Amino acid sequence: MIYPIVKYGQEVLEKPAAPVAQFDGSLEKLVADMFETMYAANGVGLAAPQIGISLNLCVIDVSCGHDPNAKLVLANPQIIAAEGEQVEEEGCLSLPDFRAKTRRPLRATVRAQDPSGTEFTLSGEGLLARALCHEADHLGGKLFISHLSRLKRDSIKRQVRKMIKAGEW
Ligand SMILES: [Zn+2]
Repeated sequence: MIYPIVKYGQEVLEKPAAPVAQFDGSLEKLVADMFETMYAANGVGLAAPQIGISLNLCVIDVSCGHDPNAKLVLANPQIIAAEGEQVEEEGCLSLPDFRAKTRRPLRATVRAQDPSGTEFTLSGEGLLARALCHEADHLGGKLFISHLSRLKRDSIKRQVRKMIKAGEW
């Protein structure tokens, strides 16, 4: 099932998500739906709050569906180490059409649980490190624009407000 994606301005995107506590069939169904929703939107990552569910869960696939081994499910993820720096264009399915150079660690290590509740640790570099940090941010109620300069962030907020007023958001 493909969910509609919640856009910036909705409260669910800006509050910390509730921990995943039940590792059962309904979680697996939700994970499958999140992958379906993410692929349909051509995204490389999707956090549960982006479909209106305040749950500490995200899916990532930096291969855009080309490599089955690249599919990642992270429940209750926590960035436990980060090093280096990269500044690349970043976007978000909840802020469609807005992209901006965003500073992120070059390498990041995350500790999380898989859909069966088993804990694992994963390290990523480049785009994967960016995706891990971007999704972990979502689950803490933070969007990528919080990493931009105030000037840039205010400009995006202003444009969004205009679009909301015009009924285009
Ligand atoms: Zn996002």
